[in-house]
Amino acid sequence: MARKGGSIMSQRHMPIDRALATIRERGVFLCYSEHGVDLWTPHTPIPVSARRAVVKFNQEIQAMMKQGRMEVCPSRDLHRQYIRHAGQGQYICEICEQIAV
Ligand SMILES: [Zn+2]
Repeated sequence: MARKGGSIMSQRHMPIDRALATIRERGVFLCYSEHGVDLWTPHTPIPVSARRAVVKFNQEIQAMMKQGRMEVCPSRDLHRQYIRHAGQGQYICEICEQIAV
């Protein structure tokens, strides 16, 4: 994938796994927008470095959402019984998998 502008700015983002963990911990939802995946954060402050990670890893996060990956499941507690191991240490949430577009 082509990387745009290898400036200092681009380094100031969280690694994808940490960004997704932060998003979960804060109860923030991932949603689709005209720019790709975006964060639904009407009332929740979220670190800028996590926001940057969402922009930076947009394609990856979108792919994970389409797969219904546990890391991007918005309701892991509610969906717990539907989460299954998909091999290679990957977990899929069957509810999210079904509603993924
Ligand atoms: Zn789910």
